[in-house]
Amino acid sequence: MRVDGHTHTELCPHGSGEATEKMVQRAIQLGFQRYCITEHAPLPPAFSQQYAGDPTGITEASLRLDQVEPYLALAEDLQRRYADQINISVGFEVDFLPGQVAWTRQFLDQYGPRTQDNILSVHFMRGADQRIWAIDLSAANFMTAFGEWLATPQRVFEEYYQTVWQSVNADLGRYAPQRIGHMSLVRKYQDACGLQEPLNAGNLLLVDQILNRLHQQHRELDLNLAGLYKPFCNDFYPGREISTRAQKLGIPLIYGSDAHDVASVGRGHHLIKTLING
Ligand SMILES: [Zn+2]
Ligand SMILES: [Zn+2]
Repeated sequence: MRVDGHTHTELCPHGSGEATEKMVQRAIQLGFQRYCITEHAPLPPAFSQQYAGDPTGITEASLRLDQVEPYLALAEDLQRRYADQINISVGFEVDFLPGQVAWTRQFLDQYGPRTQDNILSVHFMRGADQRIWAIDLSAANFMTAFGEWLATPQRVFEEYYQTVWQSVNADLGRYAPQRIGHMSLVRKYQDACGLQEPLNAGNLLLVDQILNRLHQQHRELDLNLAGLYKPFCNDFYPGREISTRAQKLGIPLIYGSDAHDVASVGRGHHLIKTLING
């Protein structure tokens, strides 16, 4: 079955604002049978006290709490109206934030019953001044946040995969997302920040630990093609070194365009076979 497992909507504050309905129509045109709407869930209000960096990293990261109902209404309406043409799932891309697990669990307890497919992503991790910084906001923000570790790329990777390890172990309740988003987002600016080198043995051990846990939990990985089209990433997430290991364990890799506009829906789907097997 042809699935786009990761997409955003017109309500996303850092998106294109293009109509979600047009995105769904594009997916149908491209022959997709299932389409997962996974908008960024709101960030916990208290997170601003831990956060450092460009303010848009939190103000434009996600839906506001008062947008959750309109979002669900929009997605559920499309789900109903297009049911005879495509199977649409409604859900969230949920942030893992150290220290905010209780809030996130409560959010999922409240809205999880209205979702079918959710993604858990790490977009933030500890950096300069022991504060929490955005990983994917801009290359400049990334360098301010993690600049002191950049001479030792493995140190950056370690911080990221330690955070991913925490995310897969976090108690997010009965509606905990079943899919882990773009598990190499730390490489989004790899070509600008000198982070292209492969993971060392220690970090690969950590990755194996994460993958083994995901396997036990019967969770899935987001095979996210967005990175391939980012000017400083030029690789898919999670990349070959991780996708090969995940495949050996039999962890399902679910294609996701991470589209925030019509043109990106389904992008690169035809590359999947070559990317993960070739
Ligand atoms: Zn987004
Ligand atoms: Zn994401």
